Amino acid sequence: MGDEALLHAGEVVLLVDLRRGKRHLVTLRLGQAFHSDRGFIPYDTLVGLPEGTVAVTTRGARYLALRPTLAEYVLEMPRGAQIIYPKDLATIALFADIGPGQTVIEAGVGSGALTLVLLRLVGPTGRVVSYETREEFARRAQRNIEARLGPVVLTIRPQDIYLGIEEREVDRVVLDLPEPWRMVEPAAQALRAGGLFCAYVPTVPQSQRVHEALAAHPAFALAETFETLLRPWNIAGPSVRPAHRMVAHTGFLTLARRVQPDAGGSLGSAPPAASGEDADAADGPGPEGA
Ligand code: SAH
Repeated sequence: MGDEALLHAGEVVLLVDLRRGKRHLVTLRLGQAFHSDRGFIPYDTLVGLPEGTVAVTTRGARYLALRPTLAEYVLEMPRGAQIIYPKDLATIALFADIGPGQTVIEAGVGSGALTLVLLRLVGPTGRVVSYETREEFARRAQRNIEARLGPVVLTIRPQDIYLGIEEREVDRVVLDLPEPWRMVEPAAQALRAGGLFCAYVPTVPQSQRVHEALAAHPAFALAETFETLLRPWNIAGPSVRPAHRMVAHTGFLTLARRVQPDAGGSLGSAPPAASGEDADAADGPGPEGA
């Protein structure tokens, strides 16, 4: 096992309480310790050990030490604004088709959860530009991002994105802010042909408004809106059933493709699951005039 594989001083580690399941994100600072109500673990005792080690507090409580996955990291990192949850981050990653080398415009940066995912996916040859009006959020996000990824190609613009997007010929515009419909025209100007618009909003009226704005715009096509539900299961002996509790609602995603002006303003689609099925007649004519 190379030294790289072993936990080293200064890195961020997840400690999972093996009795209660509670998770703690800690930085292994030499000379300091993790304190719980059942004793403490000096960080020095973790340095040099492999991931997956069980550390025992001075009063016998057992904690599993692992490097956090990106999903675990975003759930536990310090938050200013509410983050986008991992199930939605995962969905955005593939449905907004974020990939290596792309230039992605984002707003706002919030706590940096989505930014972390975008940066990981665009990689060292890509670029993320994130607009954020609140300086304290920008600072917190920057700290969260650097603690996880080290130096990255990220530009945070301390600007109101509703006033416009400076960049041109970008591959993706990904929005998590209250009025994404105001960004439909600026995004049409910023996106390259074939580029993708993606907005995440928590309520139906917001999704409806952004969807309708995209469906009516001549430079966008294939607008679609959907949500994803993640239901955890309890699997313990004969008790195999859905968990009693779930996060029942987070938000809706609305996506559309930037097209040539004469190709847009049409073919707003039903949610992805419905493709290949007949349009639901009860919905009446959609923007496509079905
Ligand atoms: N996606 C982020 C959370 C974003 S919260 C995450 O996963 O961590 C929404 C953010 O948008 C807030 O930080 C807010 O300050 C910012 N914001 C709202 N309106 C904005 C605007 N017009 N321009 C730039 N940022 C804006």
